[in-house]
Amino acid sequence: MTATALALATVRNIGIMAHIDAGKTTTAERILFFTGVSHRIGEVHDGAAALDYMKQERDRGITITSAATTCHWDGHTVNLIDTPGHVDFTIEVERCLRVLDGAVAVFDGVAGVEPQSETVWRQADRYGVPRVCFVNKLDRPGADYHRSVDMIRDRLGTVPLVVQLPIGSEAGFEGVVDLVSMRAHVWTDGRHTVVDVPSGLAEDARRWRRTLVETVADQDEEVMRLYLNGVRPSAEQLHAAIRRLTVASAATPVLCGSAFKNKGVQPLLDAVVRYLPSPLDVRKVSDDAPLAALAFKVMSDRHLGRFTFVRIYSGRLVQGATVLNGVKGRKERIGKIYRVHADKRVEIGAAGAGDIVAVMGLKQTTTGETLCDPAHPVVLESMDFPAPVIEVA
Ligand code: GDP
Repeated sequence: MTATALALATVRNIGIMAHIDAGKTTTAERILFFTGVSHRIGEVHDGAAALDYMKQERDRGITITSAATTCHWDGHTVNLIDTPGHVDFTIEVERCLRVLDGAVAVFDGVAGVEPQSETVWRQADRYGVPRVCFVNKLDRPGADYHRSVDMIRDRLGTVPLVVQLPIGSEAGFEGVVDLVSMRAHVWTDGRHTVVDVPSGLAEDARRWRRTLVETVADQDEEVMRLYLNGVRPSAEQLHAAIRRLTVASAATPVLCGSAFKNKGVQPLLDAVVRYLPSPLDVRKVSDDAPLAALAFKVMSDRHLGRFTFVRIYSGRLVQGATVLNGVKGRKERIGKIYRVHADKRVEIGAAGAGDIVAVMGLKQTTTGETLCDPAHPVVLESMDFPAPVIEVA
């Protein structure tokens, strides 16, 4: 692998999709909090601190107003792209789906699969976006993880991979058993610890792990071979097979938690980096190819003025370079390039294929338009996704 490919393998460009009120915003905020805290000051997983931090962020108005926020988890760069969740914004959802390589689908554990979740799920199907499911709000009265899993199978037509079991329910919801590693994640007063599977759940967990292995073996040759030989797949073998099935959109891992109570978010992040694809898994990307990039959101900021969020599909975007807006046929000059984090912007001189950055200085480019090398004009055409490059000249 080249250095670029190596770096790209650790990138996840993801969005969160959900029915309104299922907890998309809360989940996004928690992801930014836990990644930010771990990144900056190490392992401080205190619930009260999380809420405090998020209130400050909200007051400053920067957490979720960004079209794309870069954060870090377990050696990976996660670009969290803000996906509108409402049915009215279907076109905007579709535009965002072109920019994502994977998504987290959040469900309300009481309501299960709601109509809007179905709509957005079908759109994601159309764009071939691999997903992991997060059954949220398990602390609520009436929440039922297994009923939600059944609805995911029946209404969404995917093969759910039950990779977790909840520990406790409703007000007594304490954490989750990871069926792949057979370890339990529990949160006490906001503190996250990984412990042995509680003895009362051990039998259930073994049974559900067998079911998981059988479901994976059904579609994955390697696990099938182990299964037929009576070999129990290791956690690593099972993770790898789940990743293969997820990336191929042949199955969908289902996890659970309560974002509001800060339970389940760290294992969800583990699943994002373990199971969802990198830009390399989705399409051939190369820094050496001519530039092709999609402007997917234009925003303005009190301090910076107008800036444009761009997903680079091939080539490099370099500050000061002249590029062509392939749709309008007009030239544009690239100003400063930023990576946007929850609490700061970092100026970078250039960005490569697979990346998502904010660009200053574009005067004529609007949402949905293509930026390309003037010598190689292209238009990124949504109809042709996921092989989106159309040569113009
Ligand atoms: P969105 O519309 O999908 O972005 O949903 P929000 O994140 O704004 O959440 C909708 C409501 O559900 C808010 O009042 C949240 O506080 C609440 N909520 C979110 N997650 C949970 C959860 O895990 N448990 C409970 N009980 N409430 C939650």
